[in-house]
Amino acid sequence: MKNKTHLRTLIFLIIFLLTFSHLSFSNNISLERVEPMFWWAGMQNPDLQLLVHGENISQAEVSINYEGVKLKKVNKVENPNYLFLDIVVSKNAKPGIFEIKFKKNNKLVETYKYELRERNTKTDINKGFDASDAIYLLMPDRFFNGNPANDNIKLMPDKSDRKNPDGRHGGDIQGIINHVDYIENLGFTAVWMNPLLENNMPKYSYHGYAISDFYKIDKRLGTNSDYVNLVDSCHKHNLKVIMDMVFNHCGIESYFIKDLPMKDWIHQFPEFTRSNFHAPTVIDTHASDIDKDVMTNGWFDTNMADFNQKNKFLANYLIQNSIWWIEYSGIDGIRMDTYPYPDKDMMAEWTMRVFAEYPNFNIVGETWVQKVPFAAYWQKDSKISGNYNSMLPSLTDFPLYSAINKAFNEKEGWTEGMARLYYVLAQDFLYPNPNNLLVFVDNHDLDRAFSSLNKDIKKYKMAMAFLLTVRGIPQIYYGTEILMDGLSSQGHGFIRKDFPGGWKNDKVNAFTAKGRSALQNEAFDYLQNILTWRKNQAVISRGELKHFIPEDGVYVYFRYIENKTVMIILNNNEEADKDLNTKRFAECMKDYKSGFDIISHKQIDNLKNIKVAAKSAMIIELK
Ligand code: CA
Repeated sequence: MKNKTHLRTLIFLIIFLLTFSHLSFSNNISLERVEPMFWWAGMQNPDLQLLVHGENISQAEVSINYEGVKLKKVNKVENPNYLFLDIVVSKNAKPGIFEIKFKKNNKLVETYKYELRERNTKTDINKGFDASDAIYLLMPDRFFNGNPANDNIKLMPDKSDRKNPDGRHGGDIQGIINHVDYIENLGFTAVWMNPLLENNMPKYSYHGYAISDFYKIDKRLGTNSDYVNLVDSCHKHNLKVIMDMVFNHCGIESYFIKDLPMKDWIHQFPEFTRSNFHAPTVIDTHASDIDKDVMTNGWFDTNMADFNQKNKFLANYLIQNSIWWIEYSGIDGIRMDTYPYPDKDMMAEWTMRVFAEYPNFNIVGETWVQKVPFAAYWQKDSKISGNYNSMLPSLTDFPLYSAINKAFNEKEGWTEGMARLYYVLAQDFLYPNPNNLLVFVDNHDLDRAFSSLNKDIKKYKMAMAFLLTVRGIPQIYYGTEILMDGLSSQGHGFIRKDFPGGWKNDKVNAFTAKGRSALQNEAFDYLQNILTWRKNQAVISRGELKHFIPEDGVYVYFRYIENKTVMIILNNNEEADKDLNTKRFAECMKDYKSGFDIISHKQIDNLKNIKVAAKSAMIIELK
């Protein structure tokens, strides 16, 4: 009996030891990560918070000894595998390397050599973007495979499979570097690439929005230094770079999702809860609590954990991450994914902290909403957001996108056809700065423009002429210049097809005029002509806009500045050419005698009556 009790006690003790040894009895402290991995001396904000991850790292005593650098506070959190170090880097701290020492019982167990770098001193960086730019949006996996050797990477399960529309196809940073001249030559001045950070997900990882490592470029696209080279190449070719960032969610393969620093790092529900995706609930004064809660805290997808930005450690992590990439790579702007979804106060803090370091920068937030007020709420200094100020300069103009995609396919009506464009622009008084909106006819989430314009080259030309002369910052999706088609209802892979010629054995190479069809060249040349003209037109980038009520299917508006006026005519009629009497536009035209249509390259001597072909656009410089 006695022996049995002893045996039982012994077994219990062994089980206990095996179960809890890693917590209570082990001296095993290891260091796996410090993020940000390095920082810079001379930042505006002296505060820096380091996330330290490693087994039982919270048991360590931490010390730093470096002139101008002070370890202010060591934060322990729920999970013993994390520490958050509050550090102050004072103005007199010099670039160099210092040791972060981790000790247990006065014995050194780990050391991290932390580098304070000299700040990026290149002169052509962090320039921001504005309406003088035209942005080319491309999806890195689908543009050009410049390095087939990185198509498949050991220990990364989502392998290259070009036959699968949702699979990885092998496009990469080297492919983009090889084609910056193509983008520049087309007439663009900026490039926005869908996210390039690691997405080490089991499948459907190519799009980049399920980030699994916020400090690492995905190996299948390249390395961190390849990214810096890409930014440098773009700058050499007069292309600004806009980095796509995601603060709302992350891939569930992230180390800090598998080993959560604390329960409220992410939003968790008793059962999987997806966002309702109704962004206006955030600002709707009648919205129910449950709708608001599910909108911002629900998960974007089963494989994307929803961050809780109210958690101050997470907020700091994300904000420092974005500043790290700006300083490290020299990018000029950020496109922030799903802008209304994260906690809006944290997002305002983020924009303020970015602009405190980089006053010339620009950020565009993806505000995917259908009505102007729902968007206008989010722009910096909004007049309709009460006490809230997002400090976000630029928004995606989805209301105008929807109007463009309907206007050219419709018969004219009181609110249809050209009136759609007119009535969206008529609401610009709601925006503090309509000229800082991103305008577009499609992107990586939407039907291809050529498809939604019923594959009609005339409609395509009108839409492009409008896009490149309206207020705002035009963005064109890769392949639109060669009339790539596809509907999102077929699946996202169909609106993100490979650029023809981007892969070694492609039958056609649309990067060259020879490889494009006659129709593709017509579209390409049309776009290139307007883009090239637009580059140095202050009248378009900062001129006023005055428009006239569309009549008989013809929409006329003017862009004007001190010394120049440009007249844009959109004739949406299918049937007959128009003999446009311009008497009604006298307030904009009275000082001018003649004009030059930059589309047809024809001189117009009689401005009183202008001949406009059916279903066409004219961009007339008034003389
Ligand atoms: Ca590749």
